[in-house]
Amino acid sequence: MSEQSALNLLDRINGTISVVGSMNADYTVTTDRLPGPGETVNGGALQILPGGKSGNQAAAAAKIGAHVQMFGAVGSDDNAVFLINNLDNAGVDTSHIRRVLGPSGTTVITVDAHGENTIVYSPGSNAQVSVEYVESMREVLGKSKVLGLCLESPMETVTACAKMCHEMGITVLLNNSPFVPSLPPELVAAADVLLVNEHEMAQMLGIDEPSDGDWNAFDWHMAAEHMQKYGFERAIVTLGAEGSMVLDSTSDEPVKRIQPVKVNAVDTTGSGDAFMGTVLAGLSSGLSLHESASLASYVAAYAAAGYGAQASYGTAAQIRKAFE
Ligand code: ADP
Repeated sequence: MSEQSALNLLDRINGTISVVGSMNADYTVTTDRLPGPGETVNGGALQILPGGKSGNQAAAAAKIGAHVQMFGAVGSDDNAVFLINNLDNAGVDTSHIRRVLGPSGTTVITVDAHGENTIVYSPGSNAQVSVEYVESMREVLGKSKVLGLCLESPMETVTACAKMCHEMGITVLLNNSPFVPSLPPELVAAADVLLVNEHEMAQMLGIDEPSDGDWNAFDWHMAAEHMQKYGFERAIVTLGAEGSMVLDSTSDEPVKRIQPVKVNAVDTTGSGDAFMGTVLAGLSSGLSLHESASLASYVAAYAAAGYGAQASYGTAAQIRKAFE
């Protein structure tokens, strides 16, 4: 697919998706170096940014024009208002998000002068996204064509939600992140498409990474076969600045390379989530997996060229302008 035709796919984004999962307030401080155990170091100004994988994915999809219903839980603190306002501003339907007592999901992040970081995730309200809650949302979830899930919510909820939606004929896209090496078989059976990065793929399938780090020479046909045996006929493997691979054992071409889009990358936080949000948006709008991933390459590259996660996401018009 030519570069221009992948960008033109933005015009076709009009589908309806649901994203069920996490929303976090990311408390970020930069320091010259990360503190050791028991140590205090001076940091720069505290930044509080909207994050959480699912919230990011929902925001990315809505900004490029998909109709997005967000499901999850925020707490009774000020961050709840902050998180909802950010999603509202991105155009996400937040009316089904549950409010629970206690703190919202939070991450405490320190970043040193080399960009190395430490992250502590406190699930807070995300832990209260229960099976009973997703079951109560069955009818609303049924309005979407595609469902996005990641693993920042309780596994039993993710599994029950995937099962329920799969049975309703909704395409379920699972992002195995934060990474879990062996997924529950019921979840694998209910998920239609998997999204992972190259390291997660290798660990999941028990295959060696190329010793020289060159994924171009990697045997992707073997990976597609292993992926099918694991239970995923369709998967996308992201490769950072190297682009991504679409593995689809149901197609005549089981392995397809998606070229990266060159940008001056300043911060890749949330690029993977922008990629996932775009694939959700693409599949719900009738695009093929290959077309969706080709478009996602642009949307994720745009995100890598700006700071923050949701803060770096572009609208269809902004992305078009940046690459035309
Ligand atoms: P994760 O953060 O989940 O490991 P990746 O680092 O693989 O995800 O990035 C996801 C996608 O974002 C990539 O497939 C690519 O399309 C895009 N991307 C990431 N880093 C860059 C970069 N430096 N330049 C251009 N695109 C990038």
